[in-house]
Amino acid sequence: MSLDLDERQRAMLKMMGVQVWWPKTVAEPAPADNSLNSELYIKIDEKIDLNSPKIVAKNINFLRLEPQKIPVDISKNINPQSTEDVTSLNWPALHQAVASCRACSLCEQRTQAVFGVGQVPDGADTAPQVDWLLVGEAPGENEDRVGEPFVGQAGQLLDNMLKAMALSRRDKVFIANVIKCRPPGNRNPTHDEVAQCEPYLHRQIALLQPKMILALGKYAATSLLRATVPDVDKTPLGKLRGRVHAYTHAGLAIPVVATYHPAYLLRSLTEKAKAWEDLCLAMDALDTTNVAL
Ligand code: URA
Repeated sequence: MSLDLDERQRAMLKMMGVQVWWPKTVAEPAPADNSLNSELYIKIDEKIDLNSPKIVAKNINFLRLEPQKIPVDISKNINPQSTEDVTSLNWPALHQAVASCRACSLCEQRTQAVFGVGQVPDGADTAPQVDWLLVGEAPGENEDRVGEPFVGQAGQLLDNMLKAMALSRRDKVFIANVIKCRPPGNRNPTHDEVAQCEPYLHRQIALLQPKMILALGKYAATSLLRATVPDVDKTPLGKLRGRVHAYTHAGLAIPVVATYHPAYLLRSLTEKAKAWEDLCLAMDALDTTNVAL
């Protein structure tokens, strides 16, 4: 991987006093025995059997499971208005279900639902193969009009953040939101709207199986870390950022780094350096995982 930063970006990062990340080339050695030193690992959903042969990397501060084969029952009669049915959908069927969803009242005022954007899938029925999943909150006015997440000013900042990581939104990356339809007037989504919409995000994660998830802002962090961080609703983002957490759901355990939402960073320039630290942390964790596997 090359770090494709131009001089201006390097100068900008230097001026901000932020660390420039470079991929590690040397693997951390795996532990000599397979025993799990609980201090090295973050809390994982108790339903996961920590001795399972499916756990393929333990010498890092999270667990990584063997990718699952996701069953798709296309004979089942899917009710697109019910988010309960989504666990049987493949990628295009899930996209279609989101596009036609009428599970909550947000459908009434949307121009369109915003499923997500990223790497193009290899096959018509498969999910894109990605390393990174970035999760935001909900579409705003621009996203509702264009049908793609993060297309406004916050999106430009997000693209710059990706560029600083030598990534781009269509290269091994997928970007989605917790909520797929725009809340009118950009109000915060309600608990009920989040509950109705979350199954779509869970299914996107199950099909994408990203190596790393970046939670952009408090809504995304709360949704993704509900199973692993006690009282996550009441924990400020400042306390969630700066470490690697785990998303656990339906037998998966995927590392998550929470950081500030780009829209917040546009208003709070001083927090940009902390966001960059979080991105470096995620890149380091991903790099270690890749090497360890
Ligand atoms: N903010 C988000 O959280 N998501 C978007 O898609 C746009 C702005």
